[in-house]
Amino acid sequence: MEIVEHPSRFFWTFGNHENLPMYRRIGKVSTGGVQGNALWLEKWHNWYDSDECVDRMADLGLNLLHCRCYKGMGWEYEKDDFPRVQAFAERCRKRGITVLAYVQYATLYHEIMRKELPHVADWAALDENGKPYDYNGQYWRWMPCPNRPGFVEYIEKVLKIIIESGSFDGVMFDNMVDFPCYCPDCRKKFVEHIAEKNWDFLYPEFVSMPPVLPIPDELMDPVAIEFVRMRHNSIRDAFMRFRKVIKDINPDAIITGNFPMLPRRYSYIYGSNVASVLAPALDFTLGQSASNPGLDGTNSVVSQVYAYKLAHSLHTKVVPLVDSDAGGPAGSGSAKSNEVYIAQLCESLFNNSIPVDRIVMKPTRGGGLDQKVIETRRPILKRIQEIAKKYESILDLPEYAPVGLLYAEDSVGLSKASSEAFLRCQESLLRANVPYRLVFARENFIDEAEMNLCSTLILPDVRCMSDRVLEVLRSYKGELVMAGRENGGCDENYCQRAELPLEDLPARRVEITPHDVSKAMYYKFQIFYEKDNWAELFPTEAKIEIDTVAHAVFKQSPDGKIPGVLISAVTSVPGGTITLPEKFRAKEYEFVTVEGTQAAVFNGDKVEIPPFAGMIMLCAK
Ligand SMILES: [Zn+2]
Repeated sequence: MEIVEHPSRFFWTFGNHENLPMYRRIGKVSTGGVQGNALWLEKWHNWYDSDECVDRMADLGLNLLHCRCYKGMGWEYEKDDFPRVQAFAERCRKRGITVLAYVQYATLYHEIMRKELPHVADWAALDENGKPYDYNGQYWRWMPCPNRPGFVEYIEKVLKIIIESGSFDGVMFDNMVDFPCYCPDCRKKFVEHIAEKNWDFLYPEFVSMPPVLPIPDELMDPVAIEFVRMRHNSIRDAFMRFRKVIKDINPDAIITGNFPMLPRRYSYIYGSNVASVLAPALDFTLGQSASNPGLDGTNSVVSQVYAYKLAHSLHTKVVPLVDSDAGGPAGSGSAKSNEVYIAQLCESLFNNSIPVDRIVMKPTRGGGLDQKVIETRRPILKRIQEIAKKYESILDLPEYAPVGLLYAEDSVGLSKASSEAFLRCQESLLRANVPYRLVFARENFIDEAEMNLCSTLILPDVRCMSDRVLEVLRSYKGELVMAGRENGGCDENYCQRAELPLEDLPARRVEITPHDVSKAMYYKFQIFYEKDNWAELFPTEAKIEIDTVAHAVFKQSPDGKIPGVLISAVTSVPGGTITLPEKFRAKEYEFVTVEGTQAAVFNGDKVEIPPFAGMIMLCAK
């Protein structure tokens, strides 16, 4: 699939993915920065469907979007708009723009839907008091439950209509999330799930449905752990069914979907939107969050890199949508805001993902586009598209990353201590620009192939590990590094072992730096860095010395060479040094920036990076 193999050929933009009733009902400023109750809304909406609008996108090199299609109001209500949506999609495709049909998962617009489906309340997810969950405080939207008969089938029916129409290149699911549901159908399923455990200390038919909030620091309650796992299975099963419906009709249809691609305990325990659970249903993922790249305080660099690292560990791709649902500020056009803009686009490009600019298609009051923003961004977009084309063979390569950090999803999900240790170790590696990868583990699985690509593997206080994972770790041939004191202290169900199981191995021990990770649990993923010495603790053969604000990606070709070192930074950086021993080096290199190219001359194994802002690439010529 081209979009997965060559993401650098694509550039994502805003496709006006909400329908008019959504804007009218919300009333306030919403998706796309649009005033929901604006009197000019319909005029703008119609303009968006026009040839003129599509020409503007194509002219800016924007060639991928998700467009409005199904918002969760019931197909009988939404179908009247469908011919216009199809016409827009076909207009886009004629100009080479790939179009994904937006399909809402987590909303029942019951005020509207009830007309078509009088029983819609039977599809709602219920809280502990038996009341339907609102969608994040919007009382006119209910959350659905995938276990209630008829809901999943209804989405399947809508998907069939959309894919069979042939008007779209694929589907983009929005809001892949489930809240803990206490409906009779979930209760029945939970009793069956507990019965399969064959526990000898309770009768499944009388088991209590556990509360989920507040999220405990260390989740050890066996019934509550199984409630989490049952819900992971429920949402996974629903999306695997959707996948089958789509691919049975059109195996080439692209399937993507939106959930935060972040190692958050909130996702694991509450939202059931866990990367390893949902990614298999998709061809690639969208990771909407508020982590718009930038400096936030002097010691916190907000970035999309966390999402890329996690996605790579699952052998998938993520396109982070970090622009406040395309409603964020467009930037002032100053040099400073351009640096951040360039860094954001290039973070994506350098990490095997798709750059996104949805703001550039955001309407101003009255419904026009902001010409000043377009004129400021046009040359930057053109140049980055030119770079993406010229250096595609480098951009498509995987990363050189000889240092591994174990990402054990159960441990990070169940244990706050493990979660914090993981986040802190990752921050130390990231900010020191140690070339690292995450090695994924969950229950009895550990990614042995990825593990064996690493010459060093760090265990960041991974408290919960299965016997199988321990067995694989014992066979690891590289250097094992223990960060923290409790690695393997418990099994995957957080049950304590008699002894720490890895103490006899010849492992190096390192201290975990106490970065403040208290703000890494929410929608904006933010960590406050304390200077440490992890660059010296984890020296690699190929390496970079540079300001901790910058993010470098070493691209490695199958012959072991490193033809590209790609660096993004949300601010000005006064240069640095790249070390590439001969075995990694191509014949000749040049530095590439948005401004142009310049010579890169090695002195022995080292080359000096000139000062830059936004991005710079060391590329084989
Ligand atoms: Zn339910």
